Amino acid sequence: MGTGTRAKRVRFYESDEDIKPELPSQSRDHSDHSGPEAYERDEEFWFADGNFILVVRTTGFRLYMGLLSAQSSILRHLLSHVAPDGGSEGTQVVHIATDSPRDWRYLLRRLFPKGNGTSRSSNDFPMICALFRLSHKYQLTDVMEYAKSALKDTYSNDYDTWRIHDSHVHRMDSHSAQRTAVLSQAIVAIRFARLFNIPSVLPAAFYHCACLGGAIARGYTHEDGATEYLPPDDLERCINGMQTLVAATADYVPRLLKYMPAHKTCKKGGACRRLWKLEVTEKLTKAGRQGSTSSCDLFERFPALNGLCSNCKKKAEDWEASSFEGKQKKLWKDLPVTFGVAHLVKRRRVEGN
Ligand SMILES: [Zn+2]
Repeated sequence: MGTGTRAKRVRFYESDEDIKPELPSQSRDHSDHSGPEAYERDEEFWFADGNFILVVRTTGFRLYMGLLSAQSSILRHLLSHVAPDGGSEGTQVVHIATDSPRDWRYLLRRLFPKGNGTSRSSNDFPMICALFRLSHKYQLTDVMEYAKSALKDTYSNDYDTWRIHDSHVHRMDSHSAQRTAVLSQAIVAIRFARLFNIPSVLPAAFYHCACLGGAIARGYTHEDGATEYLPPDDLERCINGMQTLVAATADYVPRLLKYMPAHKTCKKGGACRRLWKLEVTEKLTKAGRQGSTSSCDLFERFPALNGLCSNCKKKAEDWEASSFEGKQKKLWKDLPVTFGVAHLVKRRRVEGN
């Protein structure tokens, strides 16, 4: 994968070595924020009556030491090394050089929620990543459980839940950068699933990787610019799975292409037929030419053209359900085998998780 020529930082699996706690460096008051340890105040987490300043790289968070210490024994240990007194305002400063300020902001939103600060957004994947990194490093059990639960919601192993959750991906243009970015998050999800023993997310995550087609080779770019790739073994699983899915759905597009709304029952005097022909046929022909794209729309409720009259829409959906739903459910059920992770998913099920 020619990674040696890349200028960007590259990440495969993050080992425990990368996320070991460090002893913070410490110093007295830096109210002038100047010199080599200068920092900028964080706008979101700067409590005027906070009793210490946590400087992560060059961002200062003014916080309450007792509240932060109470979160885990590691944080308690780190903060207990801080000198007991400070400068003119008595404010101690603790430096952490290796974490990202962005990650800490996500963590602080979770630990010290303000207003609706913890509500989930449409793209909370960077938040999930940050919570995994820091909760593992500082042994924050509750935060880790929250991150696991958020990842399981995103890559559900329940067919109906997945269809609903995944519908936003199908609304994106199939070749948009936005869709590629969302799908490639699964590369990181697979690493977390392995690192933290959450195999139930693997089938859906591998499915999203397969939907990337050739773009799987470009990896996932984190907010800090580092790019993460599927390790070779998982890349092999993904490519093998792509081929299986394409083969299993070879008849999908041709069968849809043969369908045509009925003239007789159309409330628009047959206008739906023209619409179908123009829009659906064009989309499907394009999908058919692109091979893997058709397998990516496997679990999409299709066709759901809003322009069709209610009669034609209902008939098309009924036809689609009777023609494909059984097959879609079977493909879904087989995903662990398709991507070679059935042994992991099964073992976890037996363990009751
Ligand atoms: Zn109609």
